[in-house]
Amino acid sequence: MGAALRLARAAGKCGEVPVGAVVVAEGRIIGRGGNRPIGACDPTAHAEMTALRRAARRARNYRLNGATLYVTLEPCLMCLGAMVHARIARLVYGARDAKIGATAWLGRGRAGRLNHRFAVLGGLRADECAALLRAQQLQRDLAIQLRIEGGVHDAHRARAQPPHDDGAADLRADRQDIESVPTRLRVIRLSCREKG
Ligand SMILES: [Zn+2]
Repeated sequence: MGAALRLARAAGKCGEVPVGAVVVAEGRIIGRGGNRPIGACDPTAHAEMTALRRAARRARNYRLNGATLYVTLEPCLMCLGAMVHARIARLVYGARDAKIGATAWLGRGRAGRLNHRFAVLGGLRADECAALLRAQQLQRDLAIQLRIEGGVHDAHRARAQPPHDDGAADLRADRQDIESVPTRLRVIRLSCREKG
């Protein structure tokens, strides 16, 4: 889980939700992944998916029999589906994900009749895993707050400034001025302008 936590921290530094995953087989890490859906413009670029892809490539086998996947956050339904396809032996996750964590689905209804089941252990170093997520959420909230306050300041500035001047008001005033000038002077004035 230490390696997964390091990957999670690295993902967080890149502006992603800080989640990291590793696949371990025969006592060695054979696949690593950091969460990267934003940077990769890929909704499937979850840490678990990347770790599974790399592990399968390294094993030259899409089935990772006997492997354990460690991930810092409870996996979503997509990643659990990939784990079923990969035939992993065990999943170990850190913090629980109350929103999209889907491990409970594994034991339920149709999922209970899956052709492959694996052991699930949750809560390993959960406090550290959750602390990473909380720290980033705080940073995001702060950034949003600063943007909102910045927006308010911009709005105040915009209100303090005169409206955009396209010169139309000046031209209208000029026309009125010209019309109020006696005809004789108006000609002089216009001719002076033309000369200028
Ligand atoms: Zn996922």
